[in-house]
Amino acid sequence: MIPAQFDYSAPATVDAAIEALRATDGEGAVLAGGQSLMPLLRLRLAYPETLVDLGRVPELSGVRDDGDHLRIGAMTTYAALIADPLVRASAPLLAQTAATVGDPAIRHRGTLGGAIAHADPAGDLPATAIALDAEVVLQGPGGTRSVVASDFFVDYLSTTRSPDELVVAVRVPKLAGWGTHYEKFNRTAQAWAIVAVAAAVKVTNGTIEAARVGLANMGPTPVRARAVESALQGVPATREALGEAAAHAADGTQPPSDLHGQEDYRRHLARELTERALAAAAGL
Ligand SMILES: Cc1cc2nc3c(=O)[nH]c(=O)nc-3n(C[C@H](O)[C@H](O)[C@H](O)COP(=O)(O)OP(=O)(O)OC[C@H]3O[C@@H](n4cnc5c(N)ncnc54)[C@H](O)[C@@H]3O)c2cc1C
Repeated sequence: MIPAQFDYSAPATVDAAIEALRATDGEGAVLAGGQSLMPLLRLRLAYPETLVDLGRVPELSGVRDDGDHLRIGAMTTYAALIADPLVRASAPLLAQTAATVGDPAIRHRGTLGGAIAHADPAGDLPATAIALDAEVVLQGPGGTRSVVASDFFVDYLSTTRSPDELVVAVRVPKLAGWGTHYEKFNRTAQAWAIVAVAAAVKVTNGTIEAARVGLANMGPTPVRARAVESALQGVPATREALGEAAAHAADGTQPPSDLHGQEDYRRHLARELTERALAAAAGL
């Protein structure tokens, strides 16, 4: 189908983009890589009056070392994340996760900020963002604020972002001494996860000091598996302990039932994939 008619704005700076968005009075949409928005426009599931294209705002792309964090510009593509030496060294889970998204064309257009702002619970990067305790940096007419990723996602495709705010960056803590792994289950290559698990584990002298687990497609938002995390705190890093903790992976979740799998199947996958992801992250 052909999208409904819209005005088009291509600002060159963040300030100009915020002004362009504010001027739409809530009737505009931000265009990043277009890998989710363009299909929605073509299906007329979205019909903004104005598109504010961030593609010509260079300050929104790239990865910066900010001491104990990486600051990753919202327009940084999946392909750039995969190749970036800072990401590979200090947040390899992001690079590993990005490499599982779609196909090369999607990875060259799709952006980290777009994936986070879109808030698809089946998306790969949102689950990893919550497992890494990343912060979403928002900028609007009222200034700049940061929101922890697990508080940013509030419902299906819904976030705490106001219509006049941009996601300008994602701040990702460097996890020195942690092991990480992303385990995605899909039936066909280049498809969304039926369920996926992002895990980060810190093992000290054979004991699990801390663990973080993010789940994709186990509810209307990406979910932090806090029951698994508490069950792992201070226990010996053994396969048995990981298996016992992973049994809690689906606690408190609301997995959907659809053509790809029923709710109980997704609960089973969450347990199984969590154990695998934790084991790989812990090097067991
Ligand atoms: C065939 C296909 C397969 C795919 N497979 C996968 C997959 O396996 N895993 C996966 O996770 N995803 C998959 N995707 C989706 C892909 O990851 C999208 O790129 C991503 O969801 C959106 O990023 P984008 O940069 O393209 O954003 P866009 O599509 O441009 O925007 C998405 C939404 O976010 C808003 N937005 C974008 N950037 C900002 C910003 N900086 N500030 C505020 N709002 C913003 C837009 O207004 C829009 O509402 C697939 C897409 C396609 C077409």
